[in-house]
Amino acid sequence: MSADFAIDDWLREEGLLDDEGLALARAALVAAGLTTGKKQRMAVAKRERAREAAWAALAGWCGAAACRAAADATGKTVVRTVRERCAGCGGSNALQAARAAAAACRRANLRRAVVLGGSPAARQEALRLAQAAGGPELVFVDGDSRVTEGDARADKARADVVLAWAGTPLPHKVSDLYRRREPGDPPIITVPTTGVGQLFRALEEHARNRRP
Ligand SMILES: [Zn+2]
Repeated sequence: MSADFAIDDWLREEGLLDDEGLALARAALVAAGLTTGKKQRMAVAKRERAREAAWAALAGWCGAAACRAAADATGKTVVRTVRERCAGCGGSNALQAARAAAAACRRANLRRAVVLGGSPAARQEALRLAQAAGGPELVFVDGDSRVTEGDARADKARADVVLAWAGTPLPHKVSDLYRRREPGDPPIITVPTTGVGQLFRALEEHARNRRP
C-alpha cells in the first residue's frame, strides 16, 4: 500500500485556518485533477503538486486590515491563514506596519517623509519595506552627510513630515537644523525606538491624526 495523508490535516499544516478556506482549497485540488472531492486522503506522491495547485489558486490573509489590499491584489481567492502564509506581511511585523503606514499616508495625502538618523542597515530595510508597501517616499538624512542650513530648509519644504529616529547616530549639529522651527515647517515627530516597525508605526499614527 502506498503512503497517503489526510487532505484536511495537511491543508491546516499549510496554514489554512477555517472551514471556508479548507473547502476552497479542496475545490482547487479538485480543479487541478488531484482528487475527486469525495476522497479524504491523497497519495504522498501528489503532495508537491497539490501545494502548487492550492497556492496558485489561493492567497493567504492573516486577518490584519493592513494586509487585505495586498491579498486582494494577487487576484486570487483570499483565505484566512497563519501569518507566515499572508500575502500582505508573510509574517513580518515590519512589513505589516509599513503597509498600515502606506494606507494611512495615502488617506492623509502624505507623500514624503524626511527621516533623520537610522543605521545604514535600518535605512535600507525601511526603504525596501516602504517600496513594497507602496509609499510614502522616504528621504534619509544621515550623520555623515554634510548638511547645510539651506539643505535642511529645502528638505523641510518638500516634506510632509520629519521623523527623528531616536537612538540612531545623528550629530546634533545636523538634527538641530531640522528641529529649528520656522513658519510653514512640517511637523517633526520623534520615533522612540530604533526598530524599523516602530518607524512605520509612528508614521501611521501621525498620518491617522493628521487633518487632510
Ligand atoms: Zn498579514
